[in-house]
Amino acid sequence: MSQALSTDVLIVGGGIAGLWLNARLRQLGYATLLVENASLGGGQSVKSQGIIHGGAKYALHGALTGASEAIADMPRRWREALAGSGELDLSGVRLLSEAHYLWSPGSLAGNLTSFFASKAVRGRVDQVKGEQLPPALQHPKFKGKVYRLAELVLDVPNLISRLAELSGDSLLAGQEIAALHENNELAGLRVDGREIRAQRVVLSAGQGNATLLASLGISQPAQQLRPLHMVLVKGPSLKPLYAHCLGGGPKPRVTVTTHPAADGQWVWYLGGDIAEAAGVARDEAAQIKAAQQELGDLLPWVDLSSARWATLRVDRAEPAQSGLVRPDNAFLADQGKLLVGWPTKLALSPDFSDRVLAALQRDGIQPSAQPSLPELPRPSVARPVWEELLP
Ligand code: FAD
Repeated sequence: MSQALSTDVLIVGGGIAGLWLNARLRQLGYATLLVENASLGGGQSVKSQGIIHGGAKYALHGALTGASEAIADMPRRWREALAGSGELDLSGVRLLSEAHYLWSPGSLAGNLTSFFASKAVRGRVDQVKGEQLPPALQHPKFKGKVYRLAELVLDVPNLISRLAELSGDSLLAGQEIAALHENNELAGLRVDGREIRAQRVVLSAGQGNATLLASLGISQPAQQLRPLHMVLVKGPSLKPLYAHCLGGGPKPRVTVTTHPAADGQWVWYLGGDIAEAAGVARDEAAQIKAAQQELGDLLPWVDLSSARWATLRVDRAEPAQSGLVRPDNAFLADQGKLLVGWPTKLALSPDFSDRVLAALQRDGIQPSAQPSLPELPRPSVARPVWEELLP
């Protein structure tokens, strides 16, 4: 039988939430172990668009919503981490774009009037023209207005690799997870038969939280899944574009991010309204056709004749909300020694960690001496989805 281990905080799930938390706890001197049953980042995290939202998108409703307030500080915290002067040292992580853009094709959409009046965006949005436009929009035929948002876009696979580095020897590949009870109390977990005692257990397994909770005989907090049907386009003529393209409604008609493929080409990754309900209902061929039509309408000068296309179905996992609305910030629930949560956005991982740290402080859990760990089976880092789908 494998050697029993003990740690301060045992984390289950190595997506952005678990990895960020693990790195923060280690930096504060806590002993940690993080168990991953597949690949690091391979759930939602490497499938995300990597936008570090500051809330501007939500202000499209015309009102300063809870989401806009909670998320407003995230770009600053990420910027500091990327500069090596923040709560984690993420210097060296590839920044894909210093800004995300808001792009209104044709005339200024009516909903932008209230958007610019809202507190969430005042002083944080500048109109750009000419050479300041994103490369893909620099064309004589381009008509429309473009605004620069103070939001970053990150290379998520690269970010996950850096966080794996910051995890040191604390990562453990493990499949079978069961509760370890002592004196009628949760004492830790049994991972592939190995006993791991911990002062606190944190479930940050994304969609996997529901199954883990069920296996521990716990029904709350409930989880909601929001399905998406994303589109990927790869081609030699693509230029970088990071933008929410506005339609008539409060949600972007399409959100484009651009990712570097290993062969030097760019891949456009399309989300936003096109990937939601109507897109989810389409099969792959129909979804690709819809995206081709959308790009043909919006960017007729882009030559897509030799582009390759793929789609990706993925669910966003979040705490259940009434009416499947988006939660406003990171979520954490605790029941005794067990903490369970979802960051709800990649950008909100620092907020998720804050909530765990607050719970540890409240309960007086202090870092203990870090025991040296035996050689453990390590999980691998997930490959970018564009390399999997469009090699
Ligand atoms: P995950 O990344 O899903 O990680 C959970 C991990 O737990 C996985 O590695 C999984 O293998 C592991 N696991 C599961 N079950 C077990 C188990 N039993 N034992 C051990 N390990 C287990 N957010 C933004 O801020 N900006 C964006 O631009 C953005 N774009 C997005 C685009 C898409 C298409 C999607 C789907 C999401 C997007 N998001 C974005 C949201 C963001 O990706 C998620 O909120 C975030 O990645 C969730 O991180 P997580 O660590 O909770 O979950």
